[in-house]
Amino acid sequence: MQKLLARLNDRQLEAVTQVTSPLLVLAGAGSGKTSVITTKIAYLIRDKGMSARNIGAVTFTNKAAREMRERVGRMLSREEAKGLTVSTFHSLGLDIIRKEVKHLGYKSGFSLFDTEDTRALIRDLMHKDAQVDADIINQVLHLISNWKNDLIEPGTALSHAEDESQALAAKVYESYIRHLKAYNAVDFDDLIRLPVLLFQQQPEILRKWQERLHYLLVDEYQDTNISQYRLVKQLTDLRKTFTVVGDDDQSIYAWRGARPENLNQLSEDFANLKIIKLEQNYRSTGRILKVANQLIANNPHLHEKSLWSQLGFGDPIKVIECASEDAEAERIAGEIMTRKLKERLSWKDFAVLYRGNFQSRILEIKLQAMQIPYKISGGTSFFARNEIKDIMAYLRLLINPSDDNAFLRIINIPRREIGPAILEKLAIYAKDRDVSLFAACHELGLEQYLSERQVERLRRFTHWLDGIIRRCESDEAIAAIGEMIRDMDYEAWLYQNASSPTVAERRYANIWTLVDSLAETLKRMQEENPEATIREAIARLVLRDLLEQQEEEDDSDKVQLLTLHASKGLEFPQVFLMGMEEELLPHRNAIEADTIEEERRLAYVGITRAQQHLTLTLARQRKTYGEMLNCTPSRFLDELPEEDLDWKGSKGEKKESPEEKMQRNKSRASALKELLKN
Ligand code: ATP
Ligand code: MG
Repeated sequence: MQKLLARLNDRQLEAVTQVTSPLLVLAGAGSGKTSVITTKIAYLIRDKGMSARNIGAVTFTNKAAREMRERVGRMLSREEAKGLTVSTFHSLGLDIIRKEVKHLGYKSGFSLFDTEDTRALIRDLMHKDAQVDADIINQVLHLISNWKNDLIEPGTALSHAEDESQALAAKVYESYIRHLKAYNAVDFDDLIRLPVLLFQQQPEILRKWQERLHYLLVDEYQDTNISQYRLVKQLTDLRKTFTVVGDDDQSIYAWRGARPENLNQLSEDFANLKIIKLEQNYRSTGRILKVANQLIANNPHLHEKSLWSQLGFGDPIKVIECASEDAEAERIAGEIMTRKLKERLSWKDFAVLYRGNFQSRILEIKLQAMQIPYKISGGTSFFARNEIKDIMAYLRLLINPSDDNAFLRIINIPRREIGPAILEKLAIYAKDRDVSLFAACHELGLEQYLSERQVERLRRFTHWLDGIIRRCESDEAIAAIGEMIRDMDYEAWLYQNASSPTVAERRYANIWTLVDSLAETLKRMQEENPEATIREAIARLVLRDLLEQQEEEDDSDKVQLLTLHASKGLEFPQVFLMGMEEELLPHRNAIEADTIEEERRLAYVGITRAQQHLTLTLARQRKTYGEMLNCTPSRFLDELPEEDLDWKGSKGEKKESPEEKMQRNKSRASALKELLKN
């Protein structure tokens, strides 16, 4: 332990050894905040004799949680770390819900709705009122999510509604909550909201969790929303000691309800809060820090911070302006290739960051063409594949036949001649009777709504599934699931619907990967607890689907492609930040909504991921809505110190002078105005 502590600077050491009062470490990027958390976990276990079981560390993304687990794993033996919780906020919430499911009034094997499920339900709930387009549904979805994160219940939302559309959304919210409960389902925001409500209503359950988690450490605290803050407060209320670390300059989740004010709220809520600031950066060269500091100085500041580094001043920041997005992607791939060979780097030393997921597509093509191995984080996942979603829907039904969304997804996959007209009538009947679609199929009254043949088709399905559900109760559950897949001849359906036999074959193979993974999960759970059932294994798989979105454990040597949001907390020797253009970074919506400061923080997060080398790229033209449009370099480029930039135009073109640029912006603005007039 002494060795671990000796590595720390004085203030880090103070933060690690401070265990008697609540502690906030407020510090800039790369100053060792996460290191304080991981070292402190080791310190609490080794020097303070705390049991790993009683310690919980939470952060925001799975990637960050995994990174933290790895760092702890390097300091502690397996034995010492046994029972330690290092997870995302959402997995912690899920763990609480799973263990307290009965007190919440849910049945075990509840379903987790992803955004698609939620959208479908909201669409259904709104449809009867009027024709609603996707935009309105998205707005309602967003409002409901914000209300949940702010712990505002439907009644309050309705009485505080500012206009008619909010009032409508509040009504949908009320019925949305009722329906979720009826479907025995929770959504993403519920993973925090339900534990908070439960703890509020049943103090003895809260007490139990306080007894379990004696010490809580929270990373990226600036991104907590109201419900997450409340959860932290509840859990730490007994002992009032905890460690949270954060950086207000890296708050990038305001759009999801994050409240950087939570940093200040802490000193109001905890009078004896200790605040420690760290200023030495151990990650980046002086140049990278200088550029980052200068950029973020354009935002107003609550807490002044000045970062410095001893890692040398480093090379200038390369800015590469390319003719088109195609050229940009090609250039990045080319740069990676040359630098890897010239500087003997590994592929995994490189990361390419971007604002929106769609930006990775062209890059992928170029990387593939040059045979550069890469990995996308948070991109299309295994679980997002259609065939996997289908089989997952079957699995969801096996553990929760009331899961109407799952029912609707697969009732006619493979084809069973059960079309929308039948389903609509079934839904009306189910709603009148207040039962699930699956249960409705069994009821005698259904015959008044549907023809005998139609009822017969529905029942053939439910009886078949009932049989499988029964077999799943025995210990040949995995075999029963395998048989289910063969029995419905999903393979033939894949071949009929895929673009080629090879594609169908690959999809079918994916399904067996899923079944294997389920078997594996069950086996592992049973090793821990012989009573574990297939229900719990499926529930866990459904969760993994939702929470991890297949960030597969993959340490192999690959270039990392990820969004700026996903890059938080991580570091790479060589970073490319692409699409440095107006409307991309800052994003068009942010320009319209005037939330440039959050975009600037996003750029700051990106820049501060770089350890040795940072390259910014931009395109002069980009295809938008099928048309080639001219792009304007990002305003953030103008905010960087010019003397630290090494600007490379494509085909030897020079950067335009500020006057030229102003002229161009002007003509662009007037062209826009003209367009708007027409
Ligand atoms: P971010 O704000 O980006 O999340 P952070 O403040 O959490 O950054 P860390 O990731 O903990 O910073 O640390 C950045 C890098 O500095 C890591 O590689 C870490 O190992 C290293 N580091 C932290 N403290 C020290 C130290 N005292 N001596 C040497 N290296 C350190
Ligand atoms: Mg960190």
